Amino acid sequence: MARILLVEDNEMNRDMLSRRLNRRGFEVLIAEDGGLAVSMTQTERPDLVLMDMSLPVIDGWEATRRLKADPETAGIPIIALTAHAMDSDRERALEVGCDDYDSKPVDLPRLLGKIETLLGSDGGGAGSS
Ligand code: MN
Repeated sequence: MARILLVEDNEMNRDMLSRRLNRRGFEVLIAEDGGLAVSMTQTERPDLVLMDMSLPVIDGWEATRRLKADPETAGIPIIALTAHAMDSDRERALEVGCDDYDSKPVDLPRLLGKIETLLGSDGGGAGSS
C-alpha cells in the first residue's frame, strides 16, 4: 500500500482529502505545517508528498526546496497544491522541484491520475489494476 504524506493546514480540506485517499487504498500521513512536512518526509519516507503551498512555519515552496536539496529525500515525488490555478504558480512549483502540480479544490480523479503516474504502475492504491 502506497503511503502519502498529506501536507495541509486547513482542517476541513485535510480531513476530506485524507478520507478520500484512504478510501482509494492509500495510507495517509498528515503534516499540518511546512516544518513538519520536512521532518516527517525525512523520518517517514512516504512514497509521495501532496504539498499545500500556503502553510504556516515554512511555506510549501521552501519546504519543497529543502526536500529536493537533500539527497536523502530528493527522489520522493512532490505534487504541489495551490488554491488558485495560475500559470505562474505552476511554473514556480516546477522551479522549486515539484514533480507535478494541481489546483484546489481538488478534482480527485485528476489528482489520482497524477499520483498513479508518479508512483508507477505497481505503486498505487486499491484502484490500480
Ligand atoms: Mn494552506
